[in-house]
Amino acid sequence: MKRKEIMLNTLHNKVVRMNELVTEEIGNDHLSSAVETPMRKDAFVLSEDEKIKKIEIHFKEIMETLGLDLNDDSLNGTPLRVAKMYVKEIFNGLDPANKPSVKLFDNKYQYNQMLVERDIAFYSNCEHHFVPFFGKAHVAYIPNGKVIGLSKLNRIVNYYAERPQVQERLTMQIANELKNVLNTEDVVVVVEARHLCVSSRGIKDDSSSTITSFYGGKFKVEQTKAEFLNYLNF
Ligand SMILES: [Zn+2]
Repeated sequence: MKRKEIMLNTLHNKVVRMNELVTEEIGNDHLSSAVETPMRKDAFVLSEDEKIKKIEIHFKEIMETLGLDLNDDSLNGTPLRVAKMYVKEIFNGLDPANKPSVKLFDNKYQYNQMLVERDIAFYSNCEHHFVPFFGKAHVAYIPNGKVIGLSKLNRIVNYYAERPQVQERLTMQIANELKNVLNTEDVVVVVEARHLCVSSRGIKDDSSSTITSFYGGKFKVEQTKAEFLNYLNF
């Protein structure tokens, strides 16, 4: 991200300070800038097919710059394969048109305790290095009149994971979406992930994992928080 964009995207003090850092420092420290994914105004001017065509050309250029011979059978299809994967799969969640539509149901059973969906597997990509980070998300909420189909919780997690991300922002985006659709502050999100940019390069630590969390509303109360954590066996 350009320095100017960082400034425009948030007024948060921490981020204004980030503006003074050089890119390499931002990348290795994995600081996030804003809760919203920084998007360009012209993000959706090109169609999916036009984006795939353009990325294919640029990725071919990257491979050739690295010295690879794209006449080789094995490498020949890679630029198009990568371009399709970016647009249609791993960065599919950049387009709001792909956001899962959420249908809520009446809480017929009058269930007013927490509902925990744990171990939601996700794959995302670090926006600083464009290599995967992946793990499990655990979410819970206390119903406020309506309940949500369980699979929608998985879909919400995966929609926000399918973007270039930082784990802190992923956690906040999932929490904000749950608060919005469920119309309650009583949500919690815990994300635990392994980052390939930490294990396969740089510091090369392949045993550490990163945990981020958001506790909203009633989940800030120690007893409720403890009940939730107990379900996770943390
Ligand atoms: Zn990274």
